Amino acid sequence: MAKYKLEYIWLDGYTPVPNLRGKTKIADFDSMPSLEDLPMWGFDGSSTQQAEGGSSDCMLKPVACYPDSTRENGVLVMCEVMMPDMVTPHPSNSRATIIDDEGAWFGFEQEYFLMKDGRPLGFPTSGYPDPQGEYYCGAGYDAVGDIARDIVEEHLDICLDAGINHEGINAEVAKGQWEFQIFGKGSAKAADQIWVARYILQRVCEKYGVSVEYHCKPIKGDWNGSGMHCNFSTQYMRETGGKDYFLALMKQFEVNMEEHIAAYGPDNHMRLTGLHETQSIDTFSWGVADRGASIRVPHSFVKDDAYKGYLEDRRPNSQGDPYAVASRVLKTISEVPTP
Ligand code: ADP
Ligand code: MN
Ligand code: MN
Ligand code: MN
Repeated sequence: MAKYKLEYIWLDGYTPVPNLRGKTKIADFDSMPSLEDLPMWGFDGSSTQQAEGGSSDCMLKPVACYPDSTRENGVLVMCEVMMPDMVTPHPSNSRATIIDDEGAWFGFEQEYFLMKDGRPLGFPTSGYPDPQGEYYCGAGYDAVGDIARDIVEEHLDICLDAGINHEGINAEVAKGQWEFQIFGKGSAKAADQIWVARYILQRVCEKYGVSVEYHCKPIKGDWNGSGMHCNFSTQYMRETGGKDYFLALMKQFEVNMEEHIAAYGPDNHMRLTGLHETQSIDTFSWGVADRGASIRVPHSFVKDDAYKGYLEDRRPNSQGDPYAVASRVLKTISEVPTP
């Protein structure tokens, strides 16, 4: 028997953007527990905008777990918030709204800024650094400064230790801006991992006195905003596809444009301007290899006129809830009949 440190992680009830919360439960296990071994737990919902003080209990239902290499016998336990009856999802539980589809695959590209003293890392005390241009995928002190690399590397290693399916990381277009990509098979897999990766990033940053800025347009002016592009496919899109189905799908995305924008993170009008590789917020468009479209269709998708594979919705922003994004995408897909 050993004492395991189980970090139960959940999303609170703040709007429009939930915060990550976590608390540690100590439990005895012979070896690393699996999901089935992890009990439900509770918390005080009146401190997280999820309940009134008079009836404050909310329940935590483990939905995924990951080894935590920063702690001896550590486990990161991603949870859904449930009502006290333990079976009804709490209204803040966006994960519970996702249509379950094992054949759905998602790849999210999470962009973010690292901030110190209220400015992106590398910004001078007053004014601006050199205009953006040479920062994207840059190397050297002038491009990325001195501590950003330590942070992103440490973050990457802890995520890989946890079994999170990172596909890559890169320095982004604005100074102090970075990205990581996570891919997962199953409706909620990548979204779970984005939330846990965000949690790990925030925790890593604590000792550097750095905070993670997820807002989609933290620096006004000619500086890129941050997105969370959502690459998605279903089994039907990958294996059957076809131009007619694709056009019907795009039609339905257009019909549901406003519902998608509502699920894609706050303040997106500040980022979806038609500039900086975006389409404007009130227009829906798709285009092959077009980074100025709402949905970018990869070359691979239209190869040999097959219209098969995955699509990239470029509108979700960096502050978006990946559960809400996956939920909305799968809902629209479900409205389009497959022959
Ligand atoms: P870019 O920055 O050019 O848009 P990235 O390489 O950062 O491209 O991201 C592409 C994303 O597409 C990756 O996250 C990858 O996991 C995802 N992806 C690739 N194939 C599929 C697929 N079949 N279904 C869903 N997502 C996919
Ligand atoms: Mn990318
Ligand atoms: Mn990017
Ligand atoms: Mn992209």
